[in-house]
Amino acid sequence: MSKAWLSLGANIGDPPAQLAEAVRRIAAHQDITVVSQSAVLTTKPWGKTDQPDFANMAIAIETRLQPLELLDIVLGIERDMGRVRDEVWGPRLIDIDIIAYDRLEVKSPRLTLPHPHAHERSFVLDPLRQIDESVATWITSR
Ligand code: ATP
Ligand code: CA
Ligand code: CA
Repeated sequence: MSKAWLSLGANIGDPPAQLAEAVRRIAAHQDITVVSQSAVLTTKPWGKTDQPDFANMAIAIETRLQPLELLDIVLGIERDMGRVRDEVWGPRLIDIDIIAYDRLEVKSPRLTLPHPHAHERSFVLDPLRQIDESVATWITSR
């Protein structure tokens, strides 16, 4: 089994409800166990600031899925929940990023681990610290 940490965000529709729905769908996958969840935080948009505030949270999971399999699962959940990609860092119904997978370091066209911006995003690090101080420290001290 591997452990992974996911960051969830939403800022259109009913953001807390969409986070809860995404967690429900992740937990429903037969090869994923959700082992902890942060609180839901309200945060200011990052990178592209002229859009509504976000709801963000982090979860820790245990899984036998490989990293790219996990990526496909979370992208599929985003798609099934109606996410449309138009502008980079624009408003979204649901975003699910893999922040880290074990202590793996990967740079491939589809997947970078740990997530390339995690170390500079308090909306990722604050919820992550609530559920796993040590992985948050690893991300910020690399
Ligand atoms: P950011 O990645 O800066 O948070 P974003 O989440 O808005 O921006 P998306 O449009 O959701 O970006 O994702 C674009 C692509 O990023 C995905 O299709 C995926 O292949 C790639 N990607 C690379 N590393 C990761 C990762 N650690 N977690 C999720 N997606 C990743
Ligand atoms: Ca993201
Ligand atoms: Ca994403």
